[in-house]
Amino acid sequence: MRRTGFIWNEKFAWFELGNYAGSVLAHSYSMQPDQHVYDPEVVRRFRNLVDVSGLLEELVQIPPRAASELEIRRVHTAAHVEQVKEMSSLPTGGDAGNYAPIPFGAYEIAALAAGGAIVAADAVMNGDVANAYALLRPAGHHARPDRSMGFCIFSNAAIAGRHLLNRASVARIAYVDWDVHHGNGTQAAFYDEPRALTISLHQDRLYPVDDGMVEQVGEGAAAGTNINIPLPAGSGVEAYCSAYDRVVIPALRAFRPDIIVVPSGFDAGAMDPMGRMMMNSDGYRRLTRMLIAVADELCGGRLLFLHEGGYSRWSVPYFGLAVLEELSGVATHVVDPHLDYHRAVGGQELLAHQVAAIDAAASIVERVPRRG
Ligand SMILES: [Zn+2]
Repeated sequence: MRRTGFIWNEKFAWFELGNYAGSVLAHSYSMQPDQHVYDPEVVRRFRNLVDVSGLLEELVQIPPRAASELEIRRVHTAAHVEQVKEMSSLPTGGDAGNYAPIPFGAYEIAALAAGGAIVAADAVMNGDVANAYALLRPAGHHARPDRSMGFCIFSNAAIAGRHLLNRASVARIAYVDWDVHHGNGTQAAFYDEPRALTISLHQDRLYPVDDGMVEQVGEGAAAGTNINIPLPAGSGVEAYCSAYDRVVIPALRAFRPDIIVVPSGFDAGAMDPMGRMMMNSDGYRRLTRMLIAVADELCGGRLLFLHEGGYSRWSVPYFGLAVLEELSGVATHVVDPHLDYHRAVGGQELLAHQVAAIDAAASIVERVPRRG
């Protein structure tokens, strides 16, 4: 059993996106008003399953605090912060474009999510907990330094990363983003930062459609510190595990970070409305075990999970519970009711065209700067 931190605040679920249908503004394109796909019930149901399973009382619950403007501006431009503040103060909210609605009150909740990432990072680095899962909303990994994007306002992961790199005990950090979409915001924040290794495993050109290519390896002194693993649509558990074996784990071993941060979206699940991948709770469990083992080997087990996307109300809570069971070493009585079906669906095996994509990413691992 390990001490696992859990960060949550009900206000995260109050980040509500009205007046949309799916991901577009209702009334436009003759679209009948409906719910926004970024549904707050997903995180609330995740948190509630952790509660009713009995696991919550075994976790170290850590309250978030709001990130200061100074902390946010270590990653984001003043103009971006001002735009969020301005739209967020309007009773109607605003829309920043690039699939980024800014509802009324968004600034306060986005600052609380960024601050939640910071307190979780500190709890892990201080040794208060062995590892942590911050169940944050709004998500952050698409937010670029100068703009909101893809339901994300501030880059929670990059803000926590800049905070960590300011600590004397942290010389290098590594990101392993398993959200089905490309971690473009984290990549942009650290593209020329040699102290951060940014790895993103995502569905090829899902979002953003023009980013996340394997050729993007970082620039200047940071060349070799960005690894994209764009997998073909339809990839299942064996493709994910192979990508970890052949790319993620060897890259981490070369870079030897002091902490591993996992932008954790669960939209690669087999029933997700936004992704076309085939992951299941057992797959997330296996990837978590691999990350725990490599963190034990390299950095005293220090692992920080920051919640990102995931749009299935029904399956995301079970994926999250599986990850938390592995992080804490506490097994609950809860059985994932979807797992047998997800396992049986055809295409879970590793296929030749997936191997080709993993080969391409594996070929750039030798460029990762080795820590002496
Ligand atoms: Zn996503």
